[in-house]
Amino acid sequence: MSMTIKTEITTLSTLLEDYNYQYYVLDNPTVPDSEYDRVFQQLQKLENEHPQYISSNSPTQKVGGVALSKFDQVTHQQPMLSLDNTFTEQGLSDFIDRAIEKSATNDIAFCIEPKLDGLAVSIIYEDGIFIQAATRGDGQTGENVTENVRTIANIPLKLRGNNIPAYLEVRGEVFMPKAGFEKLNARLQAAQEKSFVNPRNAAAGSLRQLDSKIAASRPLSFYCYSVGVFSGDLANSQYQRMQQLKEWGLPVSSEVQRVIGVSACQKYYDDILQKRTQLPYEIDGVVYKVDDIAIQDKLGFVARAPRWATAYKFPAEEALTVIENVEFQVGRTGAITPVAKLAPVFVGGVTISNATLHNKDEIARLDIHIGDHVVVRRAGDVIPQVARVILEKRQVENCKPIKFPSHCPVCESALERIEGEATIRCTGGLYCAAQRKQAIKHFASRKALNVDGLGSKVVDLLVDHNMVKNPAQLFSLSEQQIASLPRMGDISAKKLINSLQVSKKTTLSRFLYSLGIREVGEATANNLANHYKTITAIQEASIEDLQRVSDVGDIVAKHIYYFFRQEHNIEVIEQLLTQGIHWPEIATVEESELSLLGQTFVITGSFNKLSRADIKSALQTLGAKVAGSVSKKTTTVIAGEAAGSKLTKAEELGIHIMDEAALLSLLNQ
Ligand code: NAD
Repeated sequence: MSMTIKTEITTLSTLLEDYNYQYYVLDNPTVPDSEYDRVFQQLQKLENEHPQYISSNSPTQKVGGVALSKFDQVTHQQPMLSLDNTFTEQGLSDFIDRAIEKSATNDIAFCIEPKLDGLAVSIIYEDGIFIQAATRGDGQTGENVTENVRTIANIPLKLRGNNIPAYLEVRGEVFMPKAGFEKLNARLQAAQEKSFVNPRNAAAGSLRQLDSKIAASRPLSFYCYSVGVFSGDLANSQYQRMQQLKEWGLPVSSEVQRVIGVSACQKYYDDILQKRTQLPYEIDGVVYKVDDIAIQDKLGFVARAPRWATAYKFPAEEALTVIENVEFQVGRTGAITPVAKLAPVFVGGVTISNATLHNKDEIARLDIHIGDHVVVRRAGDVIPQVARVILEKRQVENCKPIKFPSHCPVCESALERIEGEATIRCTGGLYCAAQRKQAIKHFASRKALNVDGLGSKVVDLLVDHNMVKNPAQLFSLSEQQIASLPRMGDISAKKLINSLQVSKKTTLSRFLYSLGIREVGEATANNLANHYKTITAIQEASIEDLQRVSDVGDIVAKHIYYFFRQEHNIEVIEQLLTQGIHWPEIATVEESELSLLGQTFVITGSFNKLSRADIKSALQTLGAKVAGSVSKKTTTVIAGEAAGSKLTKAEELGIHIMDEAALLSLLNQ
């Protein structure tokens, strides 16, 4: 028995040593912090139960880092320790109780601030001049990183103000703000170099560059959180010392507060947790320090941490789990999203069992297999994601590649992937149950068939009560059926039936738009209608032919083509026509009669005789494009009364300008 415990302790210690090496030496952790903390706590528990096996070399008894020999070494005059930590309110209140008990003082105050996720650095000022900076290293010996720290923009090289001690050691955290981290990783990836797993490792990796020019190019920042060795006198309060550092020009977090009592301490934690995702830098908890320095001294230290401070850590945003399966979901717009089914895991404060894998490219990029051990991430309310695969843990015999479906898992329609787009979509837009609500809402919308009284809520009701499966079925609804829905009476039912009747008389262009073909907006629908004149001609057009229509490029042509190749979509269109949807024939005009073909107009200001919509559709009928903003490509700007910046820009660019009268005479021609 005792042998097994001893072996287990050794195994856990070795595992933690490995994690420490990857984290502190290589700046490249293989497991998330939550996993490290889990193993650490397991070891701590075993050691507490069997203190005879605690070795002074155990990871629980020392500070985790090492000083790399490629740097000169600095021996700290006062050890740089780690912090004890807790994850619970109970843990915080126990810490406070212990501090009160050991100090024999009631109501002690705490100086509290966010726990920045970076690395600890000690900086020495002599007569107010920056002379040396070192990393924490193993707590006793750190690395001399003076030249690199000197390049950090918010660290003063000379202190300002009065009563600056002749010798002053300040301690604080070097970190990389989130935005800078994203940019740095994008830059590294573009240069095909290895990117960093998180901002903490990016900060550590950057600070430990031998070439200070590289360090200088990295977006590092610094906040002080304590004073080390100093000459002369300083205030006897942690909080006041921080204010003093600020006065000397040193950066101190604006979130530092002095607080008394468990509930105020807990409130601070809750508030900062709320703010966490909005802060420009990563934090992983709150640090509580006894404010009175005399009490700090009385409480003293244990092996790796002071007794007068603790870190109350936030729920981890990353955790380790296993991908058990992958399912494919169809979104409202037909986008197919692979979703990983996970062994349930506690992350970001909740238990999750699903994570989005975004799309096919992401699966390939992360090289995810079913059966893989992965790090999942959930920050704030963001949908949980798979951050990375732990390849070291992959067991080939238990893993299988993810197979993307060839057809929609909901309606069996073909899937379409347009070159250059990451998303793969279902093409059964009018038929697919997953896209039903969206399709019907769009069909009934103002610029489509404009069915009065058929708003979003009514569509939801109709679909949820299984009364309508596609837009064509709207026209077979009976008054009784509609009236039976919650919050719908006889009168609104009658009105809706009536507006459905009215909406049957439409235009080809509106009808095309109402079908909700991807990227076919009003203008494209109008161009298609003018070009082809009949729905049959559009249905039969090839991809190449479609591209001859103004505004239709390769991608839109493919969307249209694939849409009309789906039997289900064709069926719905036929049903719609059988229900009596109709439009006036479009007179056949030769393209030569489209006198404005190839021209781009911009409309601005207000008009007396014509509405903007009328002007737009008149111009489009003559083959013109109507754009929203003025550019060098604009042929003519139609300027009404009180035209503003668009008119000015047109004048600057020397673009032809037309007023309402001139437009009317053009249209009359
Ligand atoms: P820590 O990061 O939990 O706490 C101590 C450190 O907090 C200090 O050294 C300092 O750098 C920092 N800190 C930030 N704000 C502070 C403030 N206001 N006052 C004082 N200190 C502040 O402890 P640690 O010993 O640096 O690292 C251990 C932790 O690192 C583990 O709990 C784990 O989360 C992580 N870790 C992860 C791996 C891995 O493989 N993923 C490996 C080793 C360590």
